[in-house]
Amino acid sequence: MFADVIVDIQHEKLDKIFQYRIPESMEGKLEPGMEVLVPFGKGNRQIRGYVTGISQTCDYDLSKVKEIIEIPERAMEIEAKLVALAAWMKENYGGTMIQALKTVLPIKQKENAKIKKRLRLLLDEETGRRQLHYYQAKNQKARARLMAALLDDHVLEYELVTKKLNITTPVIRALEEQGVLAVETERVFRTPMKQVEQQAQEITYTPEQRNVISQFRQDYGEGVRCTYLIHGVTGSGKTEVYMEMIHTVVDQGKQAIVLIPEIALTYQTVMRFYRRFGDRVAIMNSRLSAGERYDQMMRAKAGQVDVMIGPRSALFTPFPDLGLIVIDEEHEPTYKSEQTPRYHARETAIQRAKMENASVVLGSATPSMEAMYRARRGEYVLFEMKNRSRMQRMAEVYTVDMREELKNGNRSILSTKLRELMEDRLEKREQIMLFLNRRGYSGFISCRECGHVVKCPHCDVSLSVHRDGKMRCHYCGYEQPKITVCPECGSHYIGEFRAGTQQIEEIVHETFPLARVLRMDMDTTRQKDAHEKILAAFANEEADVLVGTQMIVKGHDFPNVTLVGVLAADMSLYTGDYRSGERTFQLLTQAAGRAGRGERPGEAVIQTYDPSHYAIETAVAQDYEAFYEEEIRYRELMGYPPAEQLLAVFVSGEDEALLEKGCHYLKEYIFRVIRGLSGGRNTCTGKTGAQTELPAAGVIGPASPGIDKIKDVYRRVIYIKAERYELLVGIKDRVEKYIEINSGFDSMRIQFDFNPM
Ligand code: ADP
Ligand code: ZN
Ligand code: ZN
Repeated sequence: MFADVIVDIQHEKLDKIFQYRIPESMEGKLEPGMEVLVPFGKGNRQIRGYVTGISQTCDYDLSKVKEIIEIPERAMEIEAKLVALAAWMKENYGGTMIQALKTVLPIKQKENAKIKKRLRLLLDEETGRRQLHYYQAKNQKARARLMAALLDDHVLEYELVTKKLNITTPVIRALEEQGVLAVETERVFRTPMKQVEQQAQEITYTPEQRNVISQFRQDYGEGVRCTYLIHGVTGSGKTEVYMEMIHTVVDQGKQAIVLIPEIALTYQTVMRFYRRFGDRVAIMNSRLSAGERYDQMMRAKAGQVDVMIGPRSALFTPFPDLGLIVIDEEHEPTYKSEQTPRYHARETAIQRAKMENASVVLGSATPSMEAMYRARRGEYVLFEMKNRSRMQRMAEVYTVDMREELKNGNRSILSTKLRELMEDRLEKREQIMLFLNRRGYSGFISCRECGHVVKCPHCDVSLSVHRDGKMRCHYCGYEQPKITVCPECGSHYIGEFRAGTQQIEEIVHETFPLARVLRMDMDTTRQKDAHEKILAAFANEEADVLVGTQMIVKGHDFPNVTLVGVLAADMSLYTGDYRSGERTFQLLTQAAGRAGRGERPGEAVIQTYDPSHYAIETAVAQDYEAFYEEEIRYRELMGYPPAEQLLAVFVSGEDEALLEKGCHYLKEYIFRVIRGLSGGRNTCTGKTGAQTELPAAGVIGPASPGIDKIKDVYRRVIYIKAERYELLVGIKDRVEKYIEINSGFDSMRIQFDFNPM
């Protein structure tokens, strides 16, 4: 017997199947997906690999076929179903098979079983309430927070309390000593949270919710499996609908995967699922240790959980009988992997569901152009939920034209309207969120005399000024002291462009000296759990104003926030990519959706220099349909996804001249391939923009990928547009072979990105 093995070596030229003889001792034990140790190359170096198939015959010279050494200790096994999915991913997104296999195997090795801790409330309801009031009266916020959580759910997972609720160990110990709670330990694989398995409060579904639930139930019962898109405004009760759908599937003995962007995987969200499904829920996130992740996956594999919740990689949970995949906030860019294979979780989920006879539910308040386009073409079943479940009104949204503000003599970052409303809220002790539509921008240095911008010597990006007086590159970490004289013209009028989150925080301090301000951005969330801590503090009303980048617009529900200010709404419009309009619309809609989630109605102020841009106008009007119509016309006109398909071929190398040459040859070759694949119909929509009739595929570039150099490596990109995805896959296959046999490309890296984001 022989095994097909994919060896764990990251090199395109070795990306093929090698056959090995199966030693007698392993016969009958070895299965596809298993990890093995094999001798490789002339020196018979021992390396790891994965078995992808087993056969009776060998295609090679039998005398040269080597034998598998062993199944390594702590070896992980990939489910056969996931091996098939990996093959599909390699085919459709490029890269090597070993990269694809490692992607579908988020856990790299076996770990020892772990002990799990949990907290149990020892007080009865009434004593507990009294204790809570006591903590509140003494202003012991952390204790109060933990007490409140314990009153809601009498048993809590230790992890959840420390990581999501941000309670420190000394606080837990103090409450333990006071006899308020007990810390219990237990081996995992058992049932830590059984007794919470009840709906906290019974809810009556809205007619919109009922409609979605009943149609899904009917379909599922009849064996219909498909992809659903729920377009529902924030607060329309999508999460409740997901849980009811999951319930339907679990009732049939099947399991469900729920993908939620990491940033939205907050304590509140997680607890909603725990309350509903108790200990049959497992959670994945990037902060879990290897052992914890391993345990979660093993519980899933053993059929001990029904629901796996996590970010993108949770898609590869090895469930025995997968019934449903839910993707919440389906439009989020984080669902696209940044590493080869650059898969999109949406398409990959749909493929996995197809292979395992499951359904897919996509949900969003602002569906991606892709999802809505497919839904409108009947590929997905579309549900609309237009009303908020508890009948709260949507926020009142105002636009402020910042050019007018300047004309009227207001040079501040805060418009008059926003300042007035802030004053009003601070007086009423309601909370405010200020959202800067761009990360960092933390003051780049430019010369007001000659316009020179100080850039990183290794990367083609501007350096940012930090409060410690240093200038830093956000790509490679290069730093140098802040300069005071322009290196180009010698002028002293060189300084920072003031529009970062730090500056906004300072301006709020200056304008409202008594307001308590919290800031959340890349700089303040570098530390582990910092993100959760800031949100928890804001939720506890320890601050009046939260200033931040896009990370503040999702996740938490803050019932006391009644005002949202969006500063520089148009900044995300000029990122130089075809999705910038879509991103802007989504961010603005989400930001406005943050206001007025509680009892009181909310207001939002959107400050912009371009109020008539359709992405801003439609966001202000909260009119998704109008945005979609406008945007899809643009995509169709330009031939961008989802109207057409786009493949980006990234080429990088240290020798710029060689890179140029390589790109030239590559482009020529791509032309020839297209001619061959499409029977002669192809065009170049390059600088001239000229097109012959009926283009099957067009080639653009080589162009700059936005940043021409990172860490002294030069970068170029060639774009290929085609109506059919398969044509692009065909081109990718040929290009892979072409670079493999041409040693001229050895010093270059070539990566594929389908429908890049
Ligand atoms: P979405 O996911 O669409 O933003 P959620 O499911 O989070 O909406 O619902 C928003 C809030 O409304 C949650 O607190 C949820 O518990 C509540 N809710 C949802 N559906 C109902 C309902 N039918 N009746 C009462 N409250 C509901
Ligand atoms: Zn200058
Ligand atoms: Zn750099």
